[in-house]
Amino acid sequence: MSAWVYFFLTAVIFVIVYFRLYLFLTPKNRLTILMYHQIEKDSQEELTISPENLEKQFSYLRRQHYNSLFFRDVGKICRKKILITFDDGYENNAKYLAPLLQKYNLKATIFIPTKFIREGYQSYKMMNFVQIRDLDRNVIDIALHSHNHHNFKTSAIEFIRNDLKENMDILEKEKISYSKVLAYPYGGYPKNRQKKAELDLLLKNLGIEFAVRIGNKINYFPTKEPYELCRIDIKGNESLLKFKLKLIFGRLKLF
Ligand SMILES: [Zn+2]
Repeated sequence: MSAWVYFFLTAVIFVIVYFRLYLFLTPKNRLTILMYHQIEKDSQEELTISPENLEKQFSYLRRQHYNSLFFRDVGKICRKKILITFDDGYENNAKYLAPLLQKYNLKATIFIPTKFIREGYQSYKMMNFVQIRDLDRNVIDIALHSHNHHNFKTSAIEFIRNDLKENMDILEKEKISYSKVLAYPYGGYPKNRQKKAELDLLLKNLGIEFAVRIGNKINYFPTKEPYELCRIDIKGNESLLKFKLKLIFGRLKLF
């Protein structure tokens, strides 16, 4: 075999493995999780998508027959499983998200950091607890995003324990039902093996079923790493073509 053929084959195998394209061979094990933040017209912020762009993406997911699920149904055996997630609880989610989900028959999960709801976050308008309670629960589920929204990568286990308990206690006090699924604030968790094992045990003891990071990869499901599910970061200004490519590759850059 010539060196070029050898190089080409190696590159093809690398791409198949790196982007997890082999999961197309077992489509029922392919789980895509999308991550969004804000929905607002005319925003230049990277994490804010316009209602028009979001509608184009939702319409595409519907046309392509994606199975949009809540985390509690993620074990369902079907093709094209997708979980749509929003972080932080911005007020614009209450305004725009539910009508779009209803229109395209999709479901989404909003991860709530309770301190942001109580005390606000920078100059952003956040939902209040009444708005969260009033969300259409047929299309929106609520889940955990810590209380303080501190990065767990650098937090002590004891701090994380109290923080997550507070997150859950406040939602319960406010009579907001939620799924025991956590989105790590800033996607961060300890890289040190021992500390990560301690965190995994803590999450298990708290009854948390899944935790999501960022990672920009498609997941194999059922997973052996329920506390490291990857999400795909959808940026506000991306074209529909980029969105379609992200649904295939998870990420558009090599590193
Ligand atoms: Zn967040």
